[in-house]
Amino acid sequence: MTTEELNPFVIAQRQCDAAARYLPELEPGLFEFLKRPDKVVIVEFAISTSSGDVRNFVGYRAVHNRARGPGKGGIRYHPDVTLDEVRALASWMTWKCAVVGVPFGGAKGGVVCDPKKLSKRDLQHITRRFVSDLGNEIGPHTDIPAPDMGTNAETMALIYDTYDLMHRGANNLGVVTGKPVHIGGSRGREEATGRGGLYVTRRALERGVLEGTSRLDGLSVAIQGFGNVGSNAASLFHEAGARIVAVSDSTGAVYRGEGLEPARIAAHKRATGSVVGLPAAETLGGEELLALPCDILIPAALESQLREDNVRDVRARMIVELANGPTTPVADRILLERGIPVVPDILANAGGVTVSYFEWVQNDQNEQWDLDEVNAKLDRIMSSATDGVLEKQREINGHLDDLETRRRELGRGGAPLEPVDLRTAALVVAVERVARVTLDRGIWP
Ligand code: NAD
Repeated sequence: MTTEELNPFVIAQRQCDAAARYLPELEPGLFEFLKRPDKVVIVEFAISTSSGDVRNFVGYRAVHNRARGPGKGGIRYHPDVTLDEVRALASWMTWKCAVVGVPFGGAKGGVVCDPKKLSKRDLQHITRRFVSDLGNEIGPHTDIPAPDMGTNAETMALIYDTYDLMHRGANNLGVVTGKPVHIGGSRGREEATGRGGLYVTRRALERGVLEGTSRLDGLSVAIQGFGNVGSNAASLFHEAGARIVAVSDSTGAVYRGEGLEPARIAAHKRATGSVVGLPAAETLGGEELLALPCDILIPAALESQLREDNVRDVRARMIVELANGPTTPVADRILLERGIPVVPDILANAGGVTVSYFEWVQNDQNEQWDLDEVNAKLDRIMSSATDGVLEKQREINGHLDDLETRRRELGRGGAPLEPVDLRTAALVVAVERVARVTLDRGIWP
C-alpha cells in the first residue's frame, strides 16, 4: 500500500504547480485562479427502479475553465466518482483542449452509480433525470458533455434527446458529442481516443522519444483496460503492426508473448463479460500486467494506477497514457529518473475531444464528414500537438539557466529547476495558452 496522496484534484494541482515553475512571468494570482474550477454543480435525485424501490443518486458537473471556448468533457458513471475526481478531470480537459488547440474549455461530470448493477431502464432514467436536473448548466455553447467510463453513444443519444425535449425549436445536436452516427455523431468518434493515441505514439517515436526505436512496427504493447478506449487502441495498434501481448479489465489480465488477436479478445469479452479465460492465453492478475516486460505500456482504465508502490516494477520502455490521470506525481518522478518516457494523458488521449470538436462543427453545419477526412484531420492535429510538446520540452530543458535567472529576478522561490518530462512540457504549453487568452480577454470587471 502507498502512503502518497491519491486525491486526483490534489494531484492535478501539483502537476500544475510543477509546470508553473517554468513560467516565471505567470502572475501568481492568475495561476491560482487557473488551478481551480470556475463552477461546480451538485444534483441529488431519486429514480423509481425496475425492481420497484426508490433509489437516490448524486451527480456532479464541474466546469473548470471557459476562457478558450465552451466547457467540454465526459460524463462518467462509476461507483467511485467523487467531486474531487470530477474537478480533476475537468481541469485536465482544459489543458488537453489547449494542448491540441481545439476551441473548448474544460468540464467533466459524473454520477455515483454502478452501471454493471443497474438495468438498462434504470440507467436510462438516471441519464434523463441527471440531464433534466442540470437544466441550462449544459448547452451547445456553454458546456458540452461526451462519453467517459460507464457511458457510451447510447447514453449520449439520451442526453441529446432529453435536452432537445427541453429546448424545442433549435438545432440542439451540439449539446453533446459521442452520439451514434445516425443521430448526428461523427464518423470515427468511437475509436478516436485510441486512434489519436496511435498518431501521437507514432509521431513521438519518429521524433526519437524512445532511443533506438523510430517505428511502431513489431513493438510489444500491454494495455490496462479493455473498454471503449483500450479495446479500440488494441485493434488500431495491432493494425499498425504492433504486437498486443497483454490486456486487462476489472476481472484480470490475459497474456500471450507471440501476440493476441484484438478481435478475438473482443468477441470473448462480448460472450463472457471478461477478457479472462481467452483461449490460448495465459491468465494474469491485473497488477501483473503493469509489470510485464514490453515496449509500450498503455494504461486505459482508471486514475492512479502507476504509483510509488508499484512503479519500480514497471519494465515497459515507454508509457502512453490513454486513461486520465493514471500516473501519480511520485511515479512520474521515478519514471523520469529511470529514463522511461511518459506520453501524458493531456496529449495522448486528446483524440477523443478532437473528434468531439469535429462532431460539434458538423452538427452546427448539419454535415457529416467522411471517415477519411476525420482521420486525416485528426492525424494533423495530434501530430502537430506532439511536435509542440516535444519542442517545448527541448526549449525548456535547453534554457534552464535563463529560466532560473528570470525566476530569481522576479523573486520566485523554490528549489533549482530540473529538466522537465513530457507532462510538465505539455502543461506549460497549455497553461501559457489559457493564461494568454484570459489576459487578452481581460479579467472582468
Ligand atoms: P470504459 O468504461 O469503456 O472502459 C473502462 C475499462 O477499464 C473496462 O474494460 C473496465 O473493465 C476496465 N477496468 C476498470 N477497472 C480496472 C482495473 N482495476 N484494472 C484493469 N482494468 C480495469 O471507459 P473508457 O471510455 O474506455 O475510459 C477509459 C479511460 O480513458 C478513462 O480514464 C477515461 O477517462 C479515459 N478517456 C476516455 C475517453 C473516451 O473517449 N471514452 C477519452 C479520453 C480519455
